[in-house]
Amino acid sequence: MSIVLYIAISTWLEGQVNNNLLLTANQIASVLYDPEDIQNPIDVADLRLQLAGNNIATQSFLSDQLFFVRLIDVSSGDILAASADYKVPVTFSQIIDTHFETVGVPEDNDLDEIRLYTLRLSYIPQIALQVGVSLEETHEIQGDVMRILILLLLVTGTLAPLSGWFLANRALVPIRATARTVAEIHETDLTQRLDLASSEIELEQLVQTFNAMLDRIEQAFKRQRQFTADAAHELRTPLSIMQIGLDVTLSHSRSVSEYRMALMSIQEEVQRLSHLANTLLMFARTDSHELSLEVKEVDLSVMLNMVVEQFGSVADEKHITVTREVAPSLRLEGDEDQLIQIVFNLIDNAVKYTPEGGRVRVVAQIVKQMVEITIEDTGPGISLEEQTRIFDRFYRMDTTRNRNQGGFGLGLAIAKRIVDLHRGTIHIISTVGQGTQFVVTLPIQQRYL
Ligand code: ATP
Ligand code: MG
Repeated sequence: MSIVLYIAISTWLEGQVNNNLLLTANQIASVLYDPEDIQNPIDVADLRLQLAGNNIATQSFLSDQLFFVRLIDVSSGDILAASADYKVPVTFSQIIDTHFETVGVPEDNDLDEIRLYTLRLSYIPQIALQVGVSLEETHEIQGDVMRILILLLLVTGTLAPLSGWFLANRALVPIRATARTVAEIHETDLTQRLDLASSEIELEQLVQTFNAMLDRIEQAFKRQRQFTADAAHELRTPLSIMQIGLDVTLSHSRSVSEYRMALMSIQEEVQRLSHLANTLLMFARTDSHELSLEVKEVDLSVMLNMVVEQFGSVADEKHITVTREVAPSLRLEGDEDQLIQIVFNLIDNAVKYTPEGGRVRVVAQIVKQMVEITIEDTGPGISLEEQTRIFDRFYRMDTTRNRNQGGFGLGLAIAKRIVDLHRGTIHIISTVGQGTQFVVTLPIQQRYL
């Protein structure tokens, strides 16, 4: 900016000097020669006469202090008149035409510069009018401007980094404070939050986002901890049953049939344990996205009929009527074993939680280009509050929680996970005391519609 400013000021000053010279030269010319009288141009002799006379106007421009004025005989190079002796030798190139030039003049030990304007008028071909002015003052102004700009440059050059450093430091204070708090947050205590009130406006959004992230992490950690605790708890029960069974059986010698009974009860618990282990493994795999679906064409109608039939004897025992309305040839792309799990878990629940003499209805049809599977029962129903938690792992409603019905509380969590993997939805329609309806929708590929 300083350079641009300096060039602009210098150019403007030079323009001013040129303008003044031009103006003065034209004024003098109009005093000396009459531009109207082109028929009668004055020559050197006329001019000498004029200068000899005591014309006041001529006197005044010849005694000008500011400008150096001289009249030159073009043919001989003689100076006819001059306001002062400026030590500028007359050269041919100077007087040949109208133009501006800058000439150096030795002044004391210095070299002074003079801006010269030579005016040649066509109607006075014999005489050249020269007006000059010393550039000393212009140079002084230019020097002043230069000094001021250098000073400004030095001042801003030192102030800018200093104030930049100061401002950056001040802006970093809240960030440092935030960083300190963040550094203190530890996985063992995820309840800490960044202070929104004391943070700057600019940081507010960051702090909010960070706190929201902490909320999510805390929730995830809580769920994870709960899951581990629940899993451990579920593992302990069959293990202690086996432990007690073994201790009792081994306390003294038994008959073959007694050993057989003991082993059979252990077998049951081992089955339970291995089912739990498989389920936990499945969750671990889907959580880390390791489980990939074995997708192939599945005939849902055939599959549903097969699963419903499996529950025949259990339902008969409880005098539960299972009806099905399955549209024929419902086909889609999916993992058959996993899809069986969804339906199995839902029908299992319906039969398990519906009291004797109740009804279970399985409906499958195409609704809005999706397969919709509904499993409806006349059981105890699920309250709205429970509906939000029922898909959580290991969640069991207190009303149904007893070891006779003996689930882990994982059936619905698995079903939901598989539905998600198939990009479907699962939801509950239920009123306490009036039965439950689970509705699963699964996307169906265009070619099966
Ligand atoms: P698991 O399925 O692992 O053997 P579970 O049946 O207890 O055990 P979920 O299938 O996840 O676990 O069901 C969770 C809880 O939801 C059940 O314990 C039960 O309280 C309630 N529930 C599920 N389905 C029904 C239903 N059809 N009617 C009433 N309550 C139900
Ligand atoms: Mg279940």
